[in-house]
Amino acid sequence: MAASLSLRAARRLGTPAGRAARQVVRLVPVRWLNLQEYQSKKIMADHGVTVQRFFVADNSQDALEAAKRLKAKEIVLKAQILAGGRGKGSFTSGLKGGVHLTKNPEDVGQLAEQMLGYHLITKQTTKEGVKVRKVMVAEALDIARETYLAILMDRAYNGPIMVGSPQGGMDIEEVAATKPELIFKEPIDIFEGIRQDQAFRMAANIGFKGPQQQKAAEQIQKLYSLFLKVDATQLEVNPFGETPDGQVVCFDAKINFDDNAEFRQKEIFSQDDVSETDPLENEAAKYDLKYIGMDGNIACFVNGAGLAMATCDIIDLHGGKPANFLDLGGGVQEDQVYQAFKLLTADPKVEVILVNIFGGIVNCAIIANGITKASRELKLEMPLVVRLEGTNVNEAKRILRESGLPIASASDLEDAARIAVASVPAK
Ligand code: GDP
Ligand code: MN
Repeated sequence: MAASLSLRAARRLGTPAGRAARQVVRLVPVRWLNLQEYQSKKIMADHGVTVQRFFVADNSQDALEAAKRLKAKEIVLKAQILAGGRGKGSFTSGLKGGVHLTKNPEDVGQLAEQMLGYHLITKQTTKEGVKVRKVMVAEALDIARETYLAILMDRAYNGPIMVGSPQGGMDIEEVAATKPELIFKEPIDIFEGIRQDQAFRMAANIGFKGPQQQKAAEQIQKLYSLFLKVDATQLEVNPFGETPDGQVVCFDAKINFDDNAEFRQKEIFSQDDVSETDPLENEAAKYDLKYIGMDGNIACFVNGAGLAMATCDIIDLHGGKPANFLDLGGGVQEDQVYQAFKLLTADPKVEVILVNIFGGIVNCAIIANGITKASRELKLEMPLVVRLEGTNVNEAKRILRESGLPIASASDLEDAARIAVASVPAK
């Protein structure tokens, strides 16, 4: 939760830095793979974790068929998007709620009709929402109690930790903020695994009693072994629920995976769903570049997430707005600089380009050569402000100066931001 809590907390902050953090956190070279609920639940079911019976559909006819085939007392229809808060979300079709319960399977076709192809807007999406391409049609179960359970890698504990709360089904950050005494943590020894007493204690802490305590502890053990087996960084079940007849069921599922484990988790990574990612982001990834789009008009070409945040703040301070960020990372090649410029300028909102590179591993001369080549080949006409610092900077400055191109060289970040903001054409 450490990562996701702070990310979501940052997202809440209305400050420029908060907004920047929300965008820029994604620049950090870790892009944890995130699967849809139905994919996560399939993995869970395969590991003996209790989930409801379900089908997946990408059109309303199939959704209706699936609902009939389930032969359930009640059906739950759930829009599949990567963001949470679906239950309280709303669709651009006008339909309210990304999670719908119905006793009549005949309703499912119509409901799915109002979900598929429309955007679902939740607290965790942008205001445009996310287009729904698939729905899960599941057997609904009555819920007597909703609890929260997560297992995650936590920097503070240098290993996995289990987090639970008897107050589930709702926004866990809300619980953490208002009733911190209802959040229980159980650090796990990575070598030892979850001990029996730990699983039982957590089950009790989140309110399972009698035979349900045993069942919840078993689910917890299974979830942990799955967590290890699939190289997850975070596994969140909210609600981790109890039915009136005493079953313990994972009603929702969100698993993030460690990208460094891709080589040994081929099967999981092959399910990567990039349909919700900005196409420019996907294109950038092909060249080992990290791209993120924002709303302003100043394109920012930087190296490192920290520098991206600083650049964003300082542009904001001078009254400007970033259009996007492209993070170069280390070990850069001239061709990547060219591709980076192509991507940055592919966004029609861009009116100025600001390059802010601090050369450590990165050689400034390579950047300078890449910039001049890209400017010429792409016939760039918009103002280009460059601030380079670090390894081989004098040679880089010479290359820029002698290129004959109209490049504004900035002495430092402050200067660069000031020039960039001043270069935005007046409207
Ligand atoms: P989220 O809003 O994106 O987190 O989606 P969830 O899968 O957590 O569903 C939201 C809420 O819908 C849950 O907290 C439950 O209250 C309710 N819900 C989901 N599935 C079922 C079900 O099978 N039966 C009942 N009774 N409620 C459900
Ligand atoms: Mn949920």
